Amino acid sequence: MSLIAVPLLLLPQNFSAYADVCIIGDVNEDKVLSISDVLMIKNFASGQQKPTVRQSSLADVNGDGRVNENDVSALERQLKHFSDSVPKGCYISCGDSETRYFWFDENHGNFIIKDTGFGLNFNFSCSCGEITFNTGSARNVEKAYISWSDDRHFVLKWKSGKAECFRYFGENQPDYGQLITGHWRAESDSGTRHFSINGLSGFFSDMNGGKSVNFDYKTDGNIITFNMDGEKYPLSAVVTRDDDKHFTLEWSDGTVEKFSPDNDFRIIDGVTYINGILIANKTYALPPDYDPGGLLPEVQKDLDKMFEDAEKEGISLWEFSGYRNYQDQKEIYENYKAMYGQEKADTFSSRPGYSEHQTGMTLDVNCADDSFDGTPEAIWLAENCYKYGFIIRYPKGKQYITGYKYEPWHIRWIGRENAEKVYKSGLCLEEYLEIDSVYPEE
Ligand SMILES: [Zn+2]
Repeated sequence: MSLIAVPLLLLPQNFSAYADVCIIGDVNEDKVLSISDVLMIKNFASGQQKPTVRQSSLADVNGDGRVNENDVSALERQLKHFSDSVPKGCYISCGDSETRYFWFDENHGNFIIKDTGFGLNFNFSCSCGEITFNTGSARNVEKAYISWSDDRHFVLKWKSGKAECFRYFGENQPDYGQLITGHWRAESDSGTRHFSINGLSGFFSDMNGGKSVNFDYKTDGNIITFNMDGEKYPLSAVVTRDDDKHFTLEWSDGTVEKFSPDNDFRIIDGVTYINGILIANKTYALPPDYDPGGLLPEVQKDLDKMFEDAEKEGISLWEFSGYRNYQDQKEIYENYKAMYGQEKADTFSSRPGYSEHQTGMTLDVNCADDSFDGTPEAIWLAENCYKYGFIIRYPKGKQYITGYKYEPWHIRWIGRENAEKVYKSGLCLEEYLEIDSVYPEE
């Protein structure tokens, strides 16, 4: 049985694990301990209702392996004990989509706004388990029910229905001046990592820019202590601030990483964007459910215009192969793999999730074959497609950077402004954005 049913205090100090955890006593699993849980456990204890295995496990509040009246009283005591508790100190919250940092003092506090790292002040009052937050005017009042699961963890159930789990982070108010909120690229001898930090937590990608690791951290003077997701012990680093845009971390193992602003590296719903350009290559995969259903309308519009203008110059271009969803690509790749073996297949076909054809911004024109190279159509395309927002995505001589052999027929739309910059730079997209294209090790 995989149900994680342990007191929250025993959990690692790590909120991302906390987010998936069930709260003991919360038998109806609404993330709030309330009288309805008490009633349900009462029904289990009296035999009026038969609990599922999962419910029995959640209902065993005192942890003696049985569900009976003792669990009812244990939960009642717990509810009573915490009903008047008001949070104090610094808490990390974990909601459906974001992490926030709250600082609670007597009747005021603040929270850190995602991405900017600035604090927003609020006044709050607590009565009968309901907290009222006020961030300024009468319009900015929000209410939530507070429910403690122990003296360091509580859940706010907002009026909107959203639940936000809070975990105690420390007694002191975070020093906002010490925070490293933002998007950073960190260079060291072993490679580049991208850090995306919201207030006191964030994630970094591994050296290949792929898998990401969550962490939260505390600052104390020039020491930053990181709690990495999945690591047993926290890691410390000494921070040296070069200026407000650059800093260096010296980790306890001697590794030195130099941080500079990462223009704009973000992962939204599993999709990586760098400077606003969606990336799908061997390092950055698309999730299987990323499915625009076809070429995006703006891409189609620029494509039609390009085909039309080419026609006027006596160049005939047409769409040979455009959008492919995850499943299509999976079949194609598996087919090639069976025919040529993985190593060969990887030079010209993408593994599912790694294909640009899944983006809805990519197509092959005329014929996806080496015979296209050097034709008037191929030459016109290479010289003009940037004017319509496209680039030749896998140029000649860049196989070891893009991860694909030269494909004069494969074009990718990145918008006119970007396409012109990339075209004039003479670089391939990976070089232009300073990223890799390497499959993760299996
Ligand atoms: Zn293609």
